[in-house]
Amino acid sequence: MPAGAGRGRGGGLPSSSHPRRRSGALKAEPSVAKARKTPRSPVSLKAATPFWREKSLEAMSPEEWESLCDGCGRCCLLKLEDEDTGEIHYTDIGCTLLDAGTCRCRDYPRRQAKVPDCVRLTPEAVRTLPWLPPTCGYRLVRDGRDLPWWHPLVSGTRRTVHEAGISVRGKVSGTEEEFETEELPDRIVAWPGQDPQDPDDPPDGK
Ligand code: SF4
Ligand code: SF4
Repeated sequence: MPAGAGRGRGGGLPSSSHPRRRSGALKAEPSVAKARKTPRSPVSLKAATPFWREKSLEAMSPEEWESLCDGCGRCCLLKLEDEDTGEIHYTDIGCTLLDAGTCRCRDYPRRQAKVPDCVRLTPEAVRTLPWLPPTCGYRLVRDGRDLPWWHPLVSGTRRTVHEAGISVRGKVSGTEEEFETEELPDRIVAWPGQDPQDPDDPPDGK
């Protein structure tokens, strides 16, 4: 995972409010039967709004920010920039620190000391970087979209990122040390820029 997008699970979800109603006219505790007849306030049924729907990127706590990263590993793939057009192309080659099995950085705390061009994600970077994958949690929230069913914050497990075909697991051909520079253009792939769960954006197989 790139850029400062972290692995921590957000602990910042607001808890829902379930006020208990009591009648001031009752001298004794209401019976169970009476208590059941007590009208329930609509607010007690209303779920709390997840932080990513109500907060701006800038307003998120560090834990919330880190938890937006789904752990897909797509942004840890090597990217090539077309010198003529400036267009960014993904390859299926992983950064030297990318664990292609877990799709995680093997030394996240020291990643920028070891890989100086590892981009640290900030709200400003999320708003300006042109290459964030369409499935990236930061990009989705940036664009005012909700998180999908497979995102760990929604599903409650990191497994779904792999099960939904979002992560790079099984798709990485190797790490950057294993390829010569002249081989890189042949490793350009389209799938990191696609969403396999979007029927309008089907993977093309490469
Ligand atoms: S150092 Fe490499 S693997 Fe680690 S977060 Fe940065 S790009 Fe990803
Ligand atoms: S592309 Fe995936 S790994 Fe990279 S920051 Fe976005 S969600 Fe995290």
